[in-house]
Amino acid sequence: MASITERDRKVIWHPYTPMKIWPEAIGIVSGKDEYLYDEQGKRYVDAISSWWVTLHGHSNPYIAQKISEQLTVLEHCIFAGFTHEPAVRLAERLLEILPGNQEKIFYTDNGSTAVEVAIKMALQYYNNKGQTRKRIVALENAYHGDTFGAMSVSGRSMFTKAFDHFLFDVDIIPFPTDENQHVSIAILEELLIKGDVAAFIVEPLVQGTAGMQMYPPAVLEAFFALCKKHNTLIIADEVMTGFGRTGTLFACDTITTPPDIICVSKGITGGTMPLGVTACTMDVFDAFYDDDRTKALYHGHSYTANPIACTASLASLNLLLADDSVANRKRIAERHTAFASKIAMAENVKVTRQAGTILAIELDTHEPTSYTNKYRDLIYRFFIDKGVLMRPLGNIIYLMPPYCISDASLTYVYACIEELLGILSTQ
Ligand SMILES: *Cc1c(COP(=O)(O)O)cnc(C)c1O
Repeated sequence: MASITERDRKVIWHPYTPMKIWPEAIGIVSGKDEYLYDEQGKRYVDAISSWWVTLHGHSNPYIAQKISEQLTVLEHCIFAGFTHEPAVRLAERLLEILPGNQEKIFYTDNGSTAVEVAIKMALQYYNNKGQTRKRIVALENAYHGDTFGAMSVSGRSMFTKAFDHFLFDVDIIPFPTDENQHVSIAILEELLIKGDVAAFIVEPLVQGTAGMQMYPPAVLEAFFALCKKHNTLIIADEVMTGFGRTGTLFACDTITTPPDIICVSKGITGGTMPLGVTACTMDVFDAFYDDDRTKALYHGHSYTANPIACTASLASLNLLLADDSVANRKRIAERHTAFASKIAMAENVKVTRQAGTILAIELDTHEPTSYTNKYRDLIYRFFIDKGVLMRPLGNIIYLMPPYCISDASLTYVYACIEELLGILSTQ
């Protein structure tokens, strides 16, 4: 029998993969807790929650049980003109934990579409009100997804190059580094004063794909306060930061000015089923609530609010809010902090950054920080050899483990990082 890897090569085209340079995909046959097992029986510690989705470990039996029960009750149902218990219950529960001003839940099935919906909500909001606000402001090097609207509000890069001509124009403010926070805030205000900005979209506290770039809550608060002052809608893209990653349940929980629209996905089902949510305030919803049917939001997907996905999400929320998960997030954060201070002075460590359970280490490889940094593949393969799934963003390595990761696995991953630092020093 040919291996999964060999059969894959004949028929599969992989995401984010230069297929000629990277023809081999590791065939995974099972997962349990923080581990993945390949077809040779090799074990990998999943240090990045698969693709930032797995919260409670792989093949979680509690979520599996709930999904299995739901499958024999209701597997799917059109969501226009119809509704069902898992969708309603999940909306109720999400609204309990999202910032208090959120009142309506719009379902899709991934992070990019959650962002598309947010953009459409914001633009049509002003359209429905007969106001001409057509600009969107975004943060430098942002990543909001891979569909055209989401790409438009993201940084232009090698990922978007072939499409740049078709992407709509947005205003970009510089990333608020420690040194230029005031510049970033001032430029946002200059743009907002013009009065034509419909929305400001941002990844709160941590820009994930940009390399786990972090900025403090005070800056986020300043951004949001300015948007409120100038009547610009705030879209918080919490697709990556949501569900406890940064220490609080949502990154926006660290500030007092709430966003108007919030996008979540990734961790929402604990990494079991695709689901996206765009939450919004009553004010946003009300702009579409009209006798005039042209004011409705005409957007939807065939798998919108899939009952299995909603059930998985409800189960995941139960696990997430349980005491042991809260304690685990604290434990991971504390261990990250201790490890970061241990390696801070190491020769090849340019800087470390941490937000809750996310620890990023920017390696000094004597060439510019970038996604295509020449050490990227070396680092990736080093960890794979060691039995660790860790997908560096260029020369930036980061840990974003499932919350159930054991102390022993954390210790092992940290030791691998130290070994890598040793190897890089001799390069
Ligand atoms: C991953 C991500 C998205 C896109 O989500 P997909 O489910 O991959 O489409 C959007 N925004 C942020 C911040 C992300 O990290």
